[in-house]
Amino acid sequence: MLKLENITKYYGDFLAVDNLSFEVKEGEIFGLLGVNGAGKTTTFRMIMGLLEPSSGSISLNGKKIDYSVTDNIGFLTEERSLLTKMTVKEQCLFYGTLKGMDEEQILSRLKELLEKFGISEYYDKKIKELSKGNQQKIQFITAIINSPKLLILDEPFSGLDPFNVELFKQEIVDMAKNGSMIIFSSHRMEHVELFCKKLVVLMNGKSVLDGYLTDIKEKYRKKNILVKGDIDIEKIKNIKGVIEINEKASEYEIKIENEDVKEDVFKVISKGKNITKFEVEEPSLNEIFVAKVGESYEK
Ligand code: ATP
Repeated sequence: MLKLENITKYYGDFLAVDNLSFEVKEGEIFGLLGVNGAGKTTTFRMIMGLLEPSSGSISLNGKKIDYSVTDNIGFLTEERSLLTKMTVKEQCLFYGTLKGMDEEQILSRLKELLEKFGISEYYDKKIKELSKGNQQKIQFITAIINSPKLLILDEPFSGLDPFNVELFKQEIVDMAKNGSMIIFSSHRMEHVELFCKKLVVLMNGKSVLDGYLTDIKEKYRKKNILVKGDIDIEKIKNIKGVIEINEKASEYEIKIENEDVKEDVFKVISKGKNITKFEVEEPSLNEIFVAKVGESYEK
């Protein structure tokens, strides 16, 4: 288990991470989210042992993270960190050796992963000759070459087409099934929502939302009703607990304070004509994220 307890990080007198605590267990995919400058990279660097926290503690399976455990960690950074004049093979030998693997292990794992990602023909190609998406695949491969117990993924899908996003997702889910702890960071909430059962949202270094996604949605309470048909919008607007109504393509999205309001909305809708859809949905993580971060800005 990865455990962060009351982590605080100052750069000079600037507070970048403020009393942050969370845990990631084996097999969990954990979302570490936040707006630009919220403190995510600083947190990743502290987990990797590249930066010392000003106070608090970080442990991996009960041990402080230092060079003796970093062989078990993989880190895919947001920015490209490939040595572009090297070939794919040389690059992976370089990173794999840093992770304590021998040549035979590295090359057999590399061949397996290149095949999985459909790019076996790039084995001896220079990194700079690859497209942006294929460079991202190589960066991902180098991050997982050592089958890390703890994998940190910062915007892993950047530059990938939808087909390759699926390939990456499958690999990430399989790694979690095999017991890896995965920390996933992205500004694309729909990706976070697909994988992460647990998450924390940072704002100015402080957690503004954390816990299990199901609990977060439950606590948020607001719901969205989707309706298709001819309905009396003015009447619905006047119902207590209706927050707003958006017209989307051929349907209406009615935002309500809580589940109870749906009965009153339904009464009006049932008097409408040509109703082909009535659905009560949970709000998306994106909606909750925007609301929470907005609230914190206003404080
Ligand atoms: P992004 O989503 O934009 O990558 P982030 O959440 O990763 O942002 P950090 O890079 O951790 O944010 O930065 C957190 C805050 O700390 C920012 O205000 C940043 O300007 C500041 N900061 C980061 N590194 C340093 C440094 N070396 N010295 C001083 N301040 C820093």
